[in-house]
Amino acid sequence: MDRQDALAPIRERFRLPADMIYLDGNSLGAMPQSVPDAVHEVVVDQWAAHLIKGWNDDGWMDLPHRVGSRIGELIGAPPESVAACDSTSINLFKLISGALRIQEEASRGAVILTDSGNFPSDLYILDSVGELRIVEPDEVLESITPDVAVVALTEVDYGTGRRHNMHAITEAAHAVGALVVWDLAHSAGAFPVDLAGVGADFAVGCGYKYLNGGPGAPGFVYIAPRHQSHFENPLKGWLGHAQPFDFSSEFRPAPGISRAIVGTPSVIGLTVMDSALTVFDHVSLEQIAAKSAKLTGLFMDLIRQRTDPEAFEILTPLIPEERGSQVSLRNSNAYPIVRALIERGVVGDFRAPDIARFGFAPLYVRYVDVWDAVTAIAEVIDSGEWNQPRFNQRFSVT
Ligand SMILES: *Cc1c(COP(=O)(O)O)cnc(C)c1O
Repeated sequence: MDRQDALAPIRERFRLPADMIYLDGNSLGAMPQSVPDAVHEVVVDQWAAHLIKGWNDDGWMDLPHRVGSRIGELIGAPPESVAACDSTSINLFKLISGALRIQEEASRGAVILTDSGNFPSDLYILDSVGELRIVEPDEVLESITPDVAVVALTEVDYGTGRRHNMHAITEAAHAVGALVVWDLAHSAGAFPVDLAGVGADFAVGCGYKYLNGGPGAPGFVYIAPRHQSHFENPLKGWLGHAQPFDFSSEFRPAPGISRAIVGTPSVIGLTVMDSALTVFDHVSLEQIAAKSAKLTGLFMDLIRQRTDPEAFEILTPLIPEERGSQVSLRNSNAYPIVRALIERGVVGDFRAPDIARFGFAPLYVRYVDVWDAVTAIAEVIDSGEWNQPRFNQRFSVT
């Protein structure tokens, strides 16, 4: 399968440890080979050499837009509708607040509909802004009633890998006059997203997962062009101002997506992202999605064939269109099992309370990695190797 894989050569665009099978690119993407030189350039050739002149001479101020445009191409966003800035959590706060303000003007109340599988940070943020209504993931569609102001969902469930039908949900929300905010944290870079095609209103996403922007990379925000002129950012900072260098004491929002920006761009972080995104050059998202479906499908098939059927419940949907690029296995000893696998060089992660999670970043995971990972999982289970006290001591980051 690797020999027939058109994406196989793309793995060369990454630096990966030789002795590791990395199945956690859904949590922290691998480092693209181009990044060290890009960091050296921005730090030594720009910052050290040009100092403050860099803002004009090196195009630093434009980075949120330049990086945003490149991300926009991966998520079906029209030009000038994506900015790279802040973290996913902060961006979600900005967009949810802005969406609710639009709905308040239309006297639609403040009910935010979400699902119980949403990422905790998203739930906390939503709860801090509006009146949260949480339903089961498979009850979302029927719960979109006329009293809902905003539907806020993460397309791919971080826990189970279950993927929502963006098109159907967006359509149902619009039919009752609700707005939709999509979180694409586990979507962008893993398969095609068609924001314009589904008519999405708003979206946020993460820079350090499948986009490989590095630890703590900036996230991104999308505002549909039709909403940009009336979107009100709750965090009114000078770089969301129409004329920041007028230093006016009154806030006047910038036109377009710029109003979603708050403060000074994180130049080093954005430079890393700008460079990291070149791994997507000349690669089709359809090819990426097809490989994602094959890697995850193969993993589930092999888990069923080669591990004790009692060991795991597969939580991830078997139908490719209904899942993201990860597979989640349930076992009450998931934590020590994941730790024992990491010691063998097979890196997945644990999500409380009982999920062993494996991400398959199609740009650098090989089919042979899937085979070898399942071999390791079967051995760890069959030998009882996981059952050692040292694997039960919890690290602060799981
Ligand atoms: C990874 C992730 C986040 C992370 O948010 P940060 O602000 O970058 O810490 C938020 N939401 C979802 C759904 C995620 O998967």
